[in-house]
Amino acid sequence: MSAKGETLESVQCALCSSEDVEPLHEIPPWAYVRCRKCGLVYVNPRARENAVQKVYEKSNFMSWFKKKTYNHRTMGNLKNIGERLTRGEKLMYEVNKYKQEGRILDIGCNRGFILANAAAWGWESFGIEIVPWATKLVEREFPVKIFNSRLREVEPQFEDRFFDAITMIDIIEHFHEPVKDMYEVHRILKDDGFLLINTPDIGSAYAKVRGNDWMFNKPEEHLYLYDRKTLKTLLEKTGFEITEFNQSKGAPGEMEVHVRKK
Ligand SMILES: [Zn+2]
Repeated sequence: MSAKGETLESVQCALCSSEDVEPLHEIPPWAYVRCRKCGLVYVNPRARENAVQKVYEKSNFMSWFKKKTYNHRTMGNLKNIGERLTRGEKLMYEVNKYKQEGRILDIGCNRGFILANAAAWGWESFGIEIVPWATKLVEREFPVKIFNSRLREVEPQFEDRFFDAITMIDIIEHFHEPVKDMYEVHRILKDDGFLLINTPDIGSAYAKVRGNDWMFNKPEEHLYLYDRKTLKTLLEKTGFEITEFNQSKGAPGEMEVHVRKK
């Protein structure tokens, strides 16, 4: 097998284990397929979990943080900082409808725009982000604790029912093992805790009119593209229930979902 071949894997449907799929979008060398049984859309074959880290580290999006001038920067210098903090603030207002204080975890916290708001409001604030340099500024400027690892590899493991609220903004579509990861989220969330998820909605009108050119078709990173039905199936399978579908505070064609434990 070639070196490239060793970084790829073929997978069955994460929700129903079927291998009966129809092609959906071809984005060479990748392809999204749709499970004929349950409708889940996923990349197959795909890059293995340990091969994907390089994609994130190479992305232009993060290259700014590699510059040597980084030590002289502050969050206040970041491009579009007002816009980004505003989105974090809006998301914290959603959390605030259910939980007003306690411990919060932002999975895939990126540069910490939610955590900055949470910490400013007095939450005990935790984040997970696999790209280490992304979180340097928020760690320096706010009392936040960030783990640069994957959710299932955080050391030491979070205690059971540790968090009052968990936010997962534009991250669930990146997970290689969404069922395992959502079981882990279920383990660490308090029984009356609140979970906020934002993810692209491949069932949206915007996804349909854009077709192959939809902005969220990024097969190296977005391994699963959910719609309302398949996201509901994933959450119910892992012990959650959706209490509300909301319009996303991100781009058109995304969904914001409010979730609690069953
Ligand atoms: Zn399926």
